[in-house]
Amino acid sequence: MMDTYILAIESSCDETSMAVVKNGCEVIALSITTQMDTHAKYGGVVPEIASRMHTEAITFVLEDCLEKAQMKLEDMDAIAVTYAPGLTGSLMVGVESAKILALMYHKPLIAVNHLIGHIYANNLENNMEYPLLALIVSGGHTELLVMEDDYKFKRLGETMDDAIGEAYDKVARVVGLPYPGGPNIEKLARMGSHTYFLPKPVMDDTYNFSYSGLKSAVINLVHNETQRGNDIRKEDLARTFQDIAIDELVRKVDKAFKNTGIKRLVIAGGVSANQYLKSEMSKLCQKYDAELLIPRMLYCTDNAAMIGAAAYPKYLRKEFSSYNLEVSSSADIV
Ligand code: AMP
Ligand code: MG
Repeated sequence: MMDTYILAIESSCDETSMAVVKNGCEVIALSITTQMDTHAKYGGVVPEIASRMHTEAITFVLEDCLEKAQMKLEDMDAIAVTYAPGLTGSLMVGVESAKILALMYHKPLIAVNHLIGHIYANNLENNMEYPLLALIVSGGHTELLVMEDDYKFKRLGETMDDAIGEAYDKVARVVGLPYPGGPNIEKLARMGSHTYFLPKPVMDDTYNFSYSGLKSAVINLVHNETQRGNDIRKEDLARTFQDIAIDELVRKVDKAFKNTGIKRLVIAGGVSANQYLKSEMSKLCQKYDAELLIPRMLYCTDNAAMIGAAAYPKYLRKEFSSYNLEVSSSADIV
């Protein structure tokens, strides 16, 4: 079979990224610029600024990506783009650029869901085999899915309120750490002990998650201690929070292994960069003699290579979008 080269575009949040991906698994070139430092000044992503910065960056990222690949737009077999979920204005920059390139160069257009992209990031270094359990843990999503085949998803559970990454970011903010909070809380937690009392989410008979109670408990604790003039042991608070937040994921995945008999777990999304999550999930997989796949850090965080990987099965099935493709803020995979 002929090799397939897909130019993929990702601009759903605060990274502008393009990649050339061969046959859905080989990254020929990857270019990423992040706006993180700009948004850090505001304590979170400012949508208006994000879309403007995507507009400024996108042609530069395209040039950089093609130069790294030593390829031209004419060499591509398709243009893939993240169309959902994400910030509307940010998504639009990627989608409109993809449409123009596809139209001008007469290439098929492939619309990719960002969350599915995070899952398919696992195909860039491994080969996903089915059935598998997929845990998506990011700034906007916390979902546990069964994947029976390429693009065949069944949702077991999702968050009823906040996403786990969002809880990390809020907790970081109340203890005075900069955005994005996840990596900073993880660093702090390594130096602390589980000495505070925080409530565990109780939704035991479902696969759903809840993080707003835990987040509020941290906010209240900091507030009450500050009012009393007491210092917060930030390391211990970070550790206590992280233990409970990750333990919740472990319990639900444990139950899914037990009930489904599936022997494979893929973890996707920004929070999968967390070392404690990795080590706890790896212990769990040993217990069930299951295989664990987590992309390397570069492919855990937002990037276009994962979009190219997720576009490939669609390319093979000729599932192309019309040049009227619109963005969507909906996260629905199933
Ligand atoms: P995403 O939404 O997939 O772009 O991922 C971003 C989210 O992942 C943010 O909420 C980050 O705080 C979170 N995150 C990134 N690295 C870590 C980490 N090491 N531990 C916990 N959360 C993290
Ligand atoms: Mg993401």
